[in-house]
Amino acid sequence: MSRQDADAIVVGGGLAGVAAAIAVAKAGLSTIHLAPTMPPDRRTSALMMPSVDYLRQAGLIDEPADLGHALTQIRIIDATGRLIRAPETLFDTKEAGLAAFGWNFANMRLLERFHAAAATLPNLRTISEGAVATAPVDDHWQVELADGTVLTAPLLVGADGKKSLVRASAGIVAQERTFTQAALVCDLEVGRSIGGTSIEFHYPQGPFTLVPAGGNRANLVWIDDIDVLRDAYSGGAERLLAILAEKSQRLFGDIAMATPAFVFPLSRLTVPLAGADGVVLTGESAHAFPPIGAQGLNLGLRDVADLAETLAGVDRGKPDWAIAVSRDYAKRRAADLARTGTMVDALFRSLLAEMVPAQALRAGGLWALKLAPALRKQAFSLGMGGR
Ligand SMILES: Cc1cc2nc3c(=O)[nH]c(=O)nc-3n(C[C@H](O)[C@H](O)[C@H](O)COP(=O)(O)OP(=O)(O)OC[C@H]3O[C@@H](n4cnc5c(N)ncnc54)[C@H](O)[C@@H]3O)c2cc1C
Repeated sequence: MSRQDADAIVVGGGLAGVAAAIAVAKAGLSTIHLAPTMPPDRRTSALMMPSVDYLRQAGLIDEPADLGHALTQIRIIDATGRLIRAPETLFDTKEAGLAAFGWNFANMRLLERFHAAAATLPNLRTISEGAVATAPVDDHWQVELADGTVLTAPLLVGADGKKSLVRASAGIVAQERTFTQAALVCDLEVGRSIGGTSIEFHYPQGPFTLVPAGGNRANLVWIDDIDVLRDAYSGGAERLLAILAEKSQRLFGDIAMATPAFVFPLSRLTVPLAGADGVVLTGESAHAFPPIGAQGLNLGLRDVADLAETLAGVDRGKPDWAIAVSRDYAKRRAADLARTGTMVDALFRSLLAEMVPAQALRAGGLWALKLAPALRKQAFSLGMGGR
């Protein structure tokens, strides 16, 4: 048997990585977390109630109101100008008998909280170095760091994003499709507060969404062709503001930019299985989508919750326990990954569809959701990650 530095090595210091490192350490495994320092993550994440409940139960946050903003309504406005348009649709939490669909958090604030939770765990060691190579050696995984240090552990957790080195070393081949669309994000100060309502304008090239960020602040996520976004972005602040006022149909009074804008390229990434041979993949190393329906981190947190349950059920007295973890985890995650991927694909395609039958289907679907309470309930449950 080869030398062992820890029971598990977690690679990647994004939100999925820190959450995974905490879950693994809390399951009782001695854990090394490789989390190189990165520029601040300026995105925000709308997390649905099951994810928020998980964060609380896992000790990652206390009260969501301490760092986030409740989402109590979702308003969808069809701005496609198409032949067949959908009705304006309002989803209200009261209908679902909930206080909120979820909460909107700044990723930087979530990460601060996760780091504070990680610092309390004596069996979790965080190293601010990246992995430069990973390979199986005998019954362990060997991880080489940039400074030449070599670490080994039976279980390797990949949380190293879309270009995952861990995934490649495990021989898991991802399918990635890049889009011509990208997402522009920034914070806006609006003259008229949007309260707890997330407002989505559905334009032919993609949605333009304002998400509650407290008081008169809103987080903007604008999906459009990357050239359109670059053009809007590079024409100066005044021109960008004029475009944003136009896109938001001047519904919110005077608007001002509260933070600089950032553009994120979009892609769709899937894996045939999320674990094998002592390696498990969490977060964007296993799945990535356009930010439609706010599924990405919600799904990443469900990965982490399932990893915790898998670890709770494994007998670590057996020599091949890490292989059993990767196999059981992949089995557990398969249905959720497939279902969520299909749902986001269908949403994205229906939003961008140029074909009249697809437009009719989408408009008909929204009419059905507007009119049929039972269907709305099912839609709530699906969007919130119901299994
Ligand atoms: C515009 C936008 C809006 C979004 N809004 C929402 C939303 O409202 N709700 C929601 O649920 N999701 C949302 N998402 C998705 C969500 O942001 C992502 O799913 C989530 O942040 C991914 O986290 P991650 O930790 O898996 O990946 P990342 O944040 O990409 O982290 C990966 C980490 O791995 C590290 N790394 C890479 N290689 C190595 C290596 N060799 N060694 C060590 N470390 C390595 C990187 O440095 C990085 O820190 C949105 C995404 C976008 C683009």
